[in-house]
Amino acid sequence: MGDWKVTLREVGFVLRSEEMRPVEKKMGEMIEKWASECFTNMAVGVLALQGSFNEHIAALKRLGVKGVEIRKPEQLDNISALIIPGGESTTMAKLAEYHNLFPALRDFVKMGRPVWGTCAGLIFLADKAVGQKVGGQELVGGLDCTVHRNFFGSQIQSFEAELAVPELADKEGGPANFRGIFIRAPAILEAGPGVKVLADYPVPSNKYVDSSSAVESQEEKTEPEGKVIVAVKQGNLLGTAFHPELTADTRWHSYFLKMVDEVGEGTSNSISTVDGEALSDNQNPPRIDLPIFQ
Ligand code: GLN
Repeated sequence: MGDWKVTLREVGFVLRSEEMRPVEKKMGEMIEKWASECFTNMAVGVLALQGSFNEHIAALKRLGVKGVEIRKPEQLDNISALIIPGGESTTMAKLAEYHNLFPALRDFVKMGRPVWGTCAGLIFLADKAVGQKVGGQELVGGLDCTVHRNFFGSQIQSFEAELAVPELADKEGGPANFRGIFIRAPAILEAGPGVKVLADYPVPSNKYVDSSSAVESQEEKTEPEGKVIVAVKQGNLLGTAFHPELTADTRWHSYFLKMVDEVGEGTSNSISTVDGEALSDNQNPPRIDLPIFQ
C-alpha cells in the first residue's frame, strides 16, 4: 500500500474556503485511523506472555511479515492468525489464565483462524496432555491429539535432529529434511483421523509411553524403533514439537502464512507485510542454513 494518507480532496471533496481546512484535517485523520485499523487486522499475532515470541516475530520479519505481540484477549480481534510460541507451558498457562485469555483463544481457534503452536504452544493446542505437573494445566485445545509434555526428557536431554518433512518440502521447496531443535520437547502420542502427520521421529520402543501414563521412561535406547509424531496439521491448526523459529530455515513460517492465505481466499483476510507490500510465493525463497538463532 505504501503511503496511503488520504485527504478530503482525494476522496472527491472540493474545499470552498479557508474555514474548511480543520474539517478536512479531521476527516483525513478519521480515514487514516480507519484504514490503519483495517490493516492491523491482517497482521500475524504472536502470544507474548513468555517464551520465544521475539524469535517468531524475527522469523516473520525475515519473510517480510509483521508480527504483533499479543497479551490481551481483545488484541485477538485485530489479527488474522496466531502463533503460540515455545516456552514453559505451565507458566504460560498461568499467565494466560491471569490475563483471562483462554476463552478468547478458544474462540479464535473455533472461528477457524489459523493457529500454530510450537513446543509449549503445541501442548496448549492439544485436546489432551499427559506428563503434566500435579493439578494439570488449562489447555486451549482444538487439536485432536494427545501430547506428552516432556516426552524427550528434561532440559539437558534437548537435542537437534534431521526430520523428514515431505509435505513441507513439497509446498515450500528446499531440502527434504528440516533440522528440528527439540528443547525439553513434547511429542504427540496419538492423533485423531482428521490430523495430518507432517513429521515423525524414531524412538526406541522402550521409550514409548502410552497416553494413559504420565510417567517418563529414561531407559537405555537399545530397543527397536517406534515413532512419535512431532509435526501435524488439522484444518486451521498447525503444531510442531520443535522450534523452527530458532533456525534460519523459514519454511515452517511460510507454510503457516500460506494457511492464512488459504483461509483468507475470497475474503479481505490477508497478511500485512513489514513494508506494506503483498507477499508473493517466490518473493522469499527459504534460507537453508544453520546454525540457529544468533
Ligand atoms: N516441555 C515444555 C513444557 O511443558 C515445553 C518446552 C518448550 O516449549 N521448549 O512447557
